[in-house]
Amino acid sequence: MSGIIDTRDKIIGNNREIKRLRGENKILRDELVASCSHSSVVKSGCRFETLALNFQPEKVICSVCGLEEKADDKKTDALWDESSVVKIVSWDELFKYRELRPLKAVLVPEDK
Ligand SMILES: [Zn+2]
Repeated sequence: MSGIIDTRDKIIGNNREIKRLRGENKILRDELVASCSHSSVVKSGCRFETLALNFQPEKVICSVCGLEEKADDKKTDALWDESSVVKIVSWDELFKYRELRPLKAVLVPEDK
């Protein structure tokens, strides 16, 4: 029985650690976004989802800090500066840039 309780306690401890790390990452993410110049932006065109009859406007994601915005909710001018756009991708590919990866992987795409 103690094995089960130990395992359960370990899971509880791990969950606390995950929560703590998520909070720490949120703070780090905010610092990263605040200090980033957003000079390496990936952009998708707009798309119309025929089955859902849903229009999706253009979207951009900074490949360095991960900040993203839709064209109908622009807040950060630097994200929409055309000189910052380094790549235009499909909507599906755009979501790959949500996860921060080592900067080398961002600047030297895997498909090249
Ligand atoms: Zn950025």
